[in-house]
Amino acid sequence: MKFGGTSVGKPERMHQIVSLVTKETEPVIVVLSALSGTTNALVEIGNHIANGDRQTAKQSIDRLEAHYQNFISGLVKKPETIVKAKAIIFEHFEFLNIILKISFSEALSKDILAQGELLSTKLFCIYLEELGLDHLLLPALEFMTIDNYDEPQIGSIKVKLSQILKKNKNKKIFVTQGYICRNARGEVDNLKRGGSDYSASLIAAAINASVCEIWTDIDGMHNNDPRVVKKTVPVEQMSFEEAAELAYFGAKILHPASIWPAQQYKIPVKLLNTMQPEAKGTTITEDAGSVGVKAVAAKDSITAIRIKSSRMLLAYGFLRKIFEVFEKYRTSIDMITTSEVAVSLTIDNIANLKEIIKELETFGTVEIDHNQTIISVVGNQVSETADILKKLFGSIMNIPVRMVSYGGSPHNISLLVPAAFKTQILQQLNKGMFGLE
Ligand code: ADP
Ligand code: ASP
Ligand code: MG
Repeated sequence: MKFGGTSVGKPERMHQIVSLVTKETEPVIVVLSALSGTTNALVEIGNHIANGDRQTAKQSIDRLEAHYQNFISGLVKKPETIVKAKAIIFEHFEFLNIILKISFSEALSKDILAQGELLSTKLFCIYLEELGLDHLLLPALEFMTIDNYDEPQIGSIKVKLSQILKKNKNKKIFVTQGYICRNARGEVDNLKRGGSDYSASLIAAAINASVCEIWTDIDGMHNNDPRVVKKTVPVEQMSFEEAAELAYFGAKILHPASIWPAQQYKIPVKLLNTMQPEAKGTTITEDAGSVGVKAVAAKDSITAIRIKSSRMLLAYGFLRKIFEVFEKYRTSIDMITTSEVAVSLTIDNIANLKEIIKELETFGTVEIDHNQTIISVVGNQVSETADILKKLFGSIMNIPVRMVSYGGSPHNISLLVPAAFKTQILQQLNKGMFGLE
């Protein structure tokens, strides 16, 4: 059972988590995020320190500490547990204050980011202790590891977790941190923003759990982005493929990589609402449930690259050369379309864009469009269902579409549009494809 930032963000929410966890008959691993707002605050603190602005960093640290002092006053009541909770806050904020005084490094910034999940899990355990509920804290830094390419080492996670669980067969409640891990150099690292979902799925896969429940602030995966479109509805059932496409293409409810571990190990995933536990939510299994469009999502900050070359005409091996450039700079491509004399593709990581352009220019002329958005229409057999394209294009006729990707996967049709059209296109698709206004 994974609980996100909002689900742990208030003392009463933590109380609610306990009532959900203790209802379970099977043993549970509870994976917690940091309290909502904490990771953002820690990012800010790290940035201030990196920029040499220690005074502002100190102010942010103090503000965050006050928030935690306030939080524990609503979380625990007994004097002896209050003392323990205060000691935890002291330990972690002392650490942040020490970092202020020493020279900054990339590795230290990851240590800063880890404080949120360390705090939330320790405070939650103190609350369990106050209630007299037997439990065990499993430090994620002891089993969650990533390799040199930042890929989780599922084999080793499996071995380490099963050893720990074997030694603690009598326990029913285990608590661990989402998001944080150790990298190949043994340093504290993380699974990128929103990574607690990924932790939960990896843990579920590693222990062959009966289910991986993602508890959040909404009743499941909705048909459209509720942050952008007013009227959206939850989808009761979808396949791993559909959920993976939606997560990857911008549905924030799931971390982009969080589906593959569950999919590979065939663990059902449920998306549930902590604030409304009786709602059905979304069940994700191998079974899509129905044919047709399930949802649309948008992925921002996309850069489109067009390579035009007359040499491409009737030539073979051209695409390989282009792909090799992206491989060399470890930059993944999301969408691709080709014509006889040009290739258009999209990337979201522009860290090495300058070098990439330089190498691509040896093949032809290169045009770049920043500030694009990928709109993905996701469902079961969408590219084989006759009237979907008609409905799709019929509802967005006034929008300038830069690229279309159709047929690559039976679950996805993607469009690239200038970011300025994102809200409009999501709204129009809501009406045109789902009949929702
Ligand atoms: P948590 O802190 O629990 O991980 P997140 O904020 O990461 O929660 O994810 C939940 C949020 O995802 C929702 O509040 C919602 O605004 C957003 N979201 C974006 N797209 C979707 C979608 N298609 N369905 C449901 N929620 C979505
Ligand atoms: N606390 C981390 C973040 O805000 C991880 C998560 O919430 O999933 O990104
Ligand atoms: Mg999240």
